[in-house]
Amino acid sequence: MVLPRHQPVTEPAPIGHEYCGIVEEVGRAVTSIKPGQFVIGSFFASDNTCPNCQAGYPSSCQHKEFVGGAQASRLRVPLADGTLVATPDVPSDDLIPSLLTLSDVMGTGWFAADAANVKPGTTVAVVGDGAVGLLGVLSAKQMGAERIIAMSRHESRQKLAREFGATEIVTERGDEGVARIKELTKGIGADAVLECVGTQESMMQAIRSTRPGGSVGYVGVPHGVELNGSELFFAHVHLHGGPAPVRRFLPALIDLVWNGKINPGKVFDLTLPLEQVAKGYRAMDERRAIKTLLRP
Ligand SMILES: [Zn+2]
Repeated sequence: MVLPRHQPVTEPAPIGHEYCGIVEEVGRAVTSIKPGQFVIGSFFASDNTCPNCQAGYPSSCQHKEFVGGAQASRLRVPLADGTLVATPDVPSDDLIPSLLTLSDVMGTGWFAADAANVKPGTTVAVVGDGAVGLLGVLSAKQMGAERIIAMSRHESRQKLAREFGATEIVTERGDEGVARIKELTKGIGADAVLECVGTQESMMQAIRSTRPGGSVGYVGVPHGVELNGSELFFAHVHLHGGPAPVRRFLPALIDLVWNGKINPGKVFDLTLPLEQVAKGYRAMDERRAIKTLLRP
């Protein structure tokens, strides 16, 4: 993943990997995508035909290409037929924030819940209250979770978590956070835990909050996370995660947004013109905004 905080930046480069918009032109080999369509794609371009795509992992496509530089007025998306999914029509303006989230944060939150095996009636814990964690809450709710415990310290994020379906909030972190989850689950742990941060603390918090036989879906890009073999061995938990196969979920998620079933665009609490992009990052960095929407 190419986010400024994930890799040292050595020279100026266009950034951004969440995008949607109107097709202006297509290459000669493109057959299904047409100019004039409104399309959404993932941060990994994929052919949608190779064995890994067929198995549901387009973010491990044999021909995958990272799509960067999306914070721009125009973007070239490779493998357009495989990567892009068109909406039924050109959307009204109010749908655009929600459709934009499908490109990454919503698709990633959905994958966290899918990978954690969230099912109707399950108890879910979500580690991380950024846009992905909040949309993990929304995803777990859609998948029928009975209890959703959001781990969050920020009031505005707790509020949105509740709106998205969280039934309980835990403000403690690390071992104290684990102890609270255990307390809330009769000492057993949650059936499904969504890890949406990527630090050593958050990963251990997720694994230790999961009941034996339960699952962790981890989508936080790891920053120096190391796992202890014996602890993992005795934890008895399923671990599944990685860069979200967003393309797999796009058709179903577009349908949910289009029919007004979900409104993930609520994670955008700041909208700025593209040229004020730096202001948007500052607001997110200082926790004044959950997520910034840039308009060209
Ligand atoms: Zn592929």
